[in-house]
Amino acid sequence: MDTTRLLNIVSPLLDWFSVSARDLPWRRDREPYHVWLSEIMLQQTRVEAVKGYYARFLAAAPDVFALAALPEDVLLKLWEGLGYYNRARNLQKCAKVLSEHGGRFPETKDGLLALPGVGDYTAGAIASICFEQPCAAVDGNVLRVCTRVLEDFTPIDDAAFKKALAEALGKVYPKGRCGDFTQALMELGATVCAPNGEPKCEVCPIAEHCLARAHGTTGKLPVKKPKKARREEARTVFHLRCGDHTAVQKRPAKGLLAGLWELPNTEGLLSEAEAGAYLSGLELGDTRLRAARDGEHIFTHIRWALRCYTVECEKMPGTFTWVSDEQLKGEIGLPTAFRQFIE
Ligand code: SF4
Repeated sequence: MDTTRLLNIVSPLLDWFSVSARDLPWRRDREPYHVWLSEIMLQQTRVEAVKGYYARFLAAAPDVFALAALPEDVLLKLWEGLGYYNRARNLQKCAKVLSEHGGRFPETKDGLLALPGVGDYTAGAIASICFEQPCAAVDGNVLRVCTRVLEDFTPIDDAAFKKALAEALGKVYPKGRCGDFTQALMELGATVCAPNGEPKCEVCPIAEHCLARAHGTTGKLPVKKPKKARREEARTVFHLRCGDHTAVQKRPAKGLLAGLWELPNTEGLLSEAEAGAYLSGLELGDTRLRAARDGEHIFTHIRWALRCYTVECEKMPGTFTWVSDEQLKGEIGLPTAFRQFIE
């Protein structure tokens, strides 16, 4: 890998970052807890959306000790809508380990990697931003910028390529400004060498060092391996109402959305008649169908085609947990796949 070319981008990128960095809540200090939390949230969600989650999360869990002590339902409620709920559980697992060691984060990448749920990217981000270690944090933004600068057509989902790029970047990290360099690369990828549409090469601080720009190949980079088609599944969901109460239940402890709350549901897209027959076996007393709605939810590997029936019920059998509207809003963390039908 051409480390000289990477070295050439360091200084212009840092100069640009000094004047162009966005003012983001998690950038106001270099507290590892703040950097860690924001990086995990940003792995799956846009910056604007993360701001609200980040503020609410910090209000409820201002440090690792508070996070370690959060009841699971509260934790999952705070994460509701972000998806990838195992990340929230891993955050807490990690907070528990940290709180047994005085709440201090390890300062080296290897030390960070030994924590539960902390991978290469997060370890690199914390080590460089909080502890000024020359460790790259290679995410999609950094991969995009670097493959364009180097005009490298290796698929970016190739783990060996990611590792090689992290090593090459590590060699050019500027002493004393490691944290800035990590953030500058991410920032350029997020705001200038952006993922959708044309990159803004005309305002890019490293344009003169970029091979893809020179050769007109920016639109062909980065290269990704073809994605596997998502598995299609169909489910009928029941929004069962009795007065101001709604029926919910816990999902199995393993598998998709493990251990989270859900609305009762069954396989297939049932017709009204089929739904009525299904409900008649649930001891709900007289039922009245109030609304039907189709929707979908997309996971990484699966697409759910969904049909939801809102049903007024006469009885509240103990096979379900019946929660009030207030509880549903404030306490019960319901994944978006289901919540879309009650809002
Ligand atoms: S010149 Fe264009 S393609 Fe190259 S790094 Fe800058 S924005 Fe990206």
